[in-house]
Amino acid sequence: MLKQLIYASQATRSMSDDDLLKILRVSRERNQLHRITGMLVYRDAIFLQALEGEDSELEPIWASIKADSRHWNIVEMRYVPVTKRDFSDWSMAFVNMSERDLDSIPGYSAFLAEDFSPEGLRAKPGLARDFLLDMKYYNQP
Ligand code: FAD
Repeated sequence: MLKQLIYASQATRSMSDDDLLKILRVSRERNQLHRITGMLVYRDAIFLQALEGEDSELEPIWASIKADSRHWNIVEMRYVPVTKRDFSDWSMAFVNMSERDLDSIPGYSAFLAEDFSPEGLRAKPGLARDFLLDMKYYNQP
């Protein structure tokens, strides 16, 4: 069964470009192998990620992600069956918002200022998904 997972977490320390690249490199390679697609956003030591794939392939990757010491306070906000993928073109799309002036994206400035923490995002799972969907247009290769 095809499922989509969305979670937020806090980095255990501020991530350098190199740290983020390492996460991305491994993610893209392993996701491609298991037909997992998704989107990762990083902003001020907060991760927001969507992952989608067959649940038998998604579950072990989700277990690895949850066990990863590079982040904590992992809040699952959506893990549901879906009929189609939102991020079918990307083994893991990525936006590092710390490096870009994206805080004034129309419709999201209050969300980014007030809610961009695992707890804040948990309270607004629908908005978190909409935000990830809009962020795919800012994907960094
Ligand atoms: P191993 O590579 O054997 O690593 C075991 C543990 O060592 C990890 O859990 C971690 O705690 C630690 N570790 C590994 N590399 C480093 C490092 N460079 N620095 C510090 N500690 C390290 N993986 C995916 O496959 N798909 C994803 O979409 C995905 N998204 C991620 C998103 C975030 C925010 C983070 C932090 C990690 C993500 N990962 C993702 C990586 C994932 O957590 C695993 O490290 C990876 O899948 C390899 O799994 P493994 O069981 O072989 O772990």
